Amino acid sequence: RAKLAERGSVARYNRGVSEEIRGRVNMLHNLRRAFSANELFLVFQPQISLVSGRCVGAEALLRWRTADGTMIPPDRFIPLAERSGLIVAMGEWVMRRACEEAARMAQRGHGTVRMAINVSVIQFRDPHFLGRLRAAIEDSGVSPQQIELEITESVAMGEGSRMIELFGRIKAMGLDIAIDDFGTGFSSLSHLQRMNVDRLKIDRAFINDIGGLGKGGEIAGLVCGLGGRLGIELIAEGIEQIEQADRLQLMGCQLGQGYHFARPMPADDWRVWLDAHAQGGC
Ligand code: C2E
Ligand code: MG
Ligand code: MG
Ligand code: MG
Repeated sequence: RAKLAERGSVARYNRGVSEEIRGRVNMLHNLRRAFSANELFLVFQPQISLVSGRCVGAEALLRWRTADGTMIPPDRFIPLAERSGLIVAMGEWVMRRACEEAARMAQRGHGTVRMAINVSVIQFRDPHFLGRLRAAIEDSGVSPQQIELEITESVAMGEGSRMIELFGRIKAMGLDIAIDDFGTGFSSLSHLQRMNVDRLKIDRAFINDIGGLGKGGEIAGLVCGLGGRLGIELIAEGIEQIEQADRLQLMGCQLGQGYHFARPMPADDWRVWLDAHAQGGC
């Protein structure tokens, strides 16, 4: 009887697993369809100087709205795109679209406002990555100085000397590099120095804690100290309250991004927002 019960629970387990797999296969199928049907789009979130209040850049963030209007967050579909390899084509589309938008910004007099693009580790491992990047820049006519690539900390540190070489080439093309979600991985300080990155993005989790009971505020302070010593600019993500912005500025953090300043916006709204804020500040 014990055997039977065991067999029953194994069967239940298998059913659970296969349902999960079926769900994933289904979602991947829908994602591929949505991608080729142009149902993915970019939104843009301003990056602000905590000192002057001016907009210095925007981060391009991918969105998927299904035919029935449901929004699927990137945290759910990007891992799927990574596992299936679809991220290579999708990421190339993101680079092209973001470069086009940046070129358009320059045409409207905002050529010093940077465009930050998230890049997945799978894209970096693709041997044609640099070629795709170069083509996106050339075809859009954007100045490479206007483009920044965001790479998560775990990726940047995990891949060792290959990353240092790749970063060198990207920097040589004139682009900026930012380490995303900084503080959540394990950085080697010597790596960090040799990688010659332009910016560290302090993870939202630590910003949340500022002014609260958690230790996140302390970590944000430590990262700011580190950036200051190494001469790397700092940007805080997920600023929701003015007190957080004030505290971060005192810690030596130069830039910020978050709902307190602006939410990510579709391209039309972003263009209007940028025209309105370019002069005055946020
Ligand atoms: P991330 O690169 O760390 O992006 C920051 C996330 O924080 C975004 O979530 C943004 O909407 C959110 N955020 C910004 N300000 C605030 C705030 O004040 N409060 C809160 N609670 N959240 C805020 P989103 O757009 O859902 O993206 C999630 C992640 O998906 C991104 O994290 C990034 O890792 C990934 N992702 C998004 N677009 C792309 C893309 O085009 N390519 C790749 N490879 N990854 C992407
Ligand atoms: Mg990012
Ligand atoms: Mg981030
Ligand atoms: Mg994050």
